[in-house]
Amino acid sequence: MTAPLHEAGVAELASGLAQGRCSAVELAGELLARAQADAGLGAFLSIDREVTLAQARAADARRAQGLAGALTGVPVAHKDIFVTRELPSTAGSRMLADYRSPYDATVVARLGAGEPGGAPGAGMVMLGKLNCDEFAMGSSNENSAFGAVRNPWSRDRVAGGSSGGSAAAVAARLVPAATGTDTGGSIRQPAAFCGITGIKPTYGVCSRYGMIAFASSLDQAGPMARSAEDCAWLLSAMGGFDPRDATSVEQPSVDYVAQLHTPREGAGAGRPLAGLRIGLPREFFPAGLSQDVAHAVRAALAELERLGATLVDVSLPRTELSIPVYYIIAPAEASSNLSRFDGVKFGHRAAHHGDLADMYRKTRAEGFGAEVKRRIMIGTYVLSHGYYDAYYLQAQKLRRMIADDFQACFGQCDVIAGPVAPTVAWELGAQAHDPIASYLADIFTLPASLAGLPGMSVPAGFGTQGLPVGLQLVGNYFREGELLHTAHALQQATDFHLRRPPGA
Ligand code: GLN
Repeated sequence: MTAPLHEAGVAELASGLAQGRCSAVELAGELLARAQADAGLGAFLSIDREVTLAQARAADARRAQGLAGALTGVPVAHKDIFVTRELPSTAGSRMLADYRSPYDATVVARLGAGEPGGAPGAGMVMLGKLNCDEFAMGSSNENSAFGAVRNPWSRDRVAGGSSGGSAAAVAARLVPAATGTDTGGSIRQPAAFCGITGIKPTYGVCSRYGMIAFASSLDQAGPMARSAEDCAWLLSAMGGFDPRDATSVEQPSVDYVAQLHTPREGAGAGRPLAGLRIGLPREFFPAGLSQDVAHAVRAALAELERLGATLVDVSLPRTELSIPVYYIIAPAEASSNLSRFDGVKFGHRAAHHGDLADMYRKTRAEGFGAEVKRRIMIGTYVLSHGYYDAYYLQAQKLRRMIADDFQACFGQCDVIAGPVAPTVAWELGAQAHDPIASYLADIFTLPASLAGLPGMSVPAGFGTQGLPVGLQLVGNYFREGELLHTAHALQQATDFHLRRPPGA
């Protein structure tokens, strides 16, 4: 390998391992040391050296037997919302502080050793589990029961959320790639805040089996890495039909890496995006957008134009409504999903209690943090007999209209682009006591989530204080290949995704 091992991305490590320039054990050893030191970020929640080294030895053994796949031996870390047999699975909650799962999530198994009784997995080596907002509820990672994650670009800023540990670990070169989950922006927004690349695929592409549930009609897993190419490698291994998830789409996994390199019809030298129509929803460029974000996003769009794309004006008229719609539907589903944490079946149980009802009350009072409790209360309220029609049903109707608005846009364009978030990463604590401010900051990621569409965050530049800005790309259903192709073309022409935070 030319550069130090920790600087290499997924594709580079895969070829280094294939060519015998390093072993999985050597690689795991170096990255374990970095992950354990953590650079003061708070990104990892659990690491078990022996577990990781055993997986690395198994990867080297498979390679020696000629059984290695492209990713065999490449390290990965998982958001702590995915259950794992060999490491704790906390969902960032006190409720699950000591929880051990008897099985691996499908995504974890597919990237790792494979599903029990199924095909072998990609053989990636699990470095550890990553911090996140409690039950993935949040936009800053400050809702984790185990402490906030710091942004590697500026330690007094948030890393974003809820997949903040994943984004910070990848940005700080603690791990080449990580998994995340996105219910309303939790892959895209932390990726943008930390200057990395992340994609939330179409709802149903990645199995939710073993993903601790937040809002089941929205939750979707996806990869977070430094480049679109690295994301394509992971997504190809993660996705595809899983009979264990009733909303999994019945299609085989797709080779997104091949799609990266498939030229568009009509593309020519220097114009790889010729013929691509990129729609800019006017609602994604409001007057209040921060200058840092507006400048970087405009510059990235100009670059996409140079690469052959045409920009067209479109409209998503219900963009603003996606905030109340999401903050009704997501808490409604969360209040139902979280009812399983009752002190009987999983996790925490209050030590001192009276009768059964008192045990439930004390267990849930002790186990859940403030934001989770707030959402359970909102969700229970909007689902209650007197308010169901006024809130939940109305929100469902609007959700359909938001999805229809996207289809109207896709009549005029192939891909939609805009900012991921209205600002760069804010200071730690700045919104800690203002949940509404944090809800409002989700405005550009919620629409695609409600519609179930694939969305991506691509590094687009830096603001005046050196903080990263993300460009959001949204595609039509199952067009993640087109998003990755577009982002890859941009990354061949720019170097924002290669820049390293100070000290990394
Ligand atoms: N910030 C949003 C929320 O708090 C989205 C979180 C997510 O995508 N998991 O619900």
